[in-house]
Amino acid sequence: MKLAVYDDYRVGVVEGDSVYDVTSAVPGASGAWPPVFMNALIGDWANAQARIVAARKATVPVALNAVSLLAPNPCPVHVFAAPANYRKHIAEMGALTVTPKGKTAREQGFFLKASASITGAGRGIELPKGSRRRFDHESELAVIIGRTTRNVTRETAMQAVFGYSCLVDVTMRIEPDGRAEERVMRKSLETFTPLGPWIVTADELGDPSNLHNQLFVNGECRQDATTADLIVDIPDLIAYVSSVMTLHPGDVIATGTPSGIGPIVPGDEVAIRIERVGEMRLKVTETPVAPAAPFWEAS
Ligand code: MN
Repeated sequence: MKLAVYDDYRVGVVEGDSVYDVTSAVPGASGAWPPVFMNALIGDWANAQARIVAARKATVPVALNAVSLLAPNPCPVHVFAAPANYRKHIAEMGALTVTPKGKTAREQGFFLKASASITGAGRGIELPKGSRRRFDHESELAVIIGRTTRNVTRETAMQAVFGYSCLVDVTMRIEPDGRAEERVMRKSLETFTPLGPWIVTADELGDPSNLHNQLFVNGECRQDATTADLIVDIPDLIAYVSSVMTLHPGDVIATGTPSGIGPIVPGDEVAIRIERVGEMRLKVTETPVAPAAPFWEAS
């Protein structure tokens, strides 16, 4: 099943080019802060699935291209992210690397992105108006956690997975002159975590260990790899994070990016396409107001 959130925080089941409105089967679905209804739905999926299926049968579809997609989980408790993590990507980072050279992805562990940086296809990516800093795309498979999970081994870790989505880990790069703000800040500007276009459930997707992961800018392919190239694979990522803290239903793990990261500028169109998940198209625009913090500017 493919689950989307759209328009005024409606919940839909996506089939082909259509979406079936099942909001009536999702308690609390609204934009009222905090919009955590998807966490509750995912955590109660054993009971909720039958209600969703019944609601889908009782409604008529609308065209997917007639709705505005939000992130399929607008407010996860956590967004975990693996740095780099594809075999070819670490080498290309060179002088711009955000971690000391020579460290493996496993040694680096993971970092957090703010949930408030999540956005959907309908809004796209907003770069700080007038900034001369470099902003990069990172094409990543997102794992959506399905149950409360703590201290699992890699052998049982996949039982924690609810589904998958596409995630662009938008990043303000450090500067060659040595300016290197905290990573959490550089990766948590508002709209810097596009998620979507929907969640495909684990039972529908099947084995995620060899999925094509591609990202295009204005139609040009910039990143092209498969999840078979992950250094720390999905079971180990889940085991690793769960050794540090409890994973909750709806939590997101961004699994890292392959080679080919590069800059995006206002006016670009980014498309992330992951095999058996889907494709999310994102317009790159500027925030309506210039940032007040001058330290964001390149010298
Ligand atoms: Mn990343």
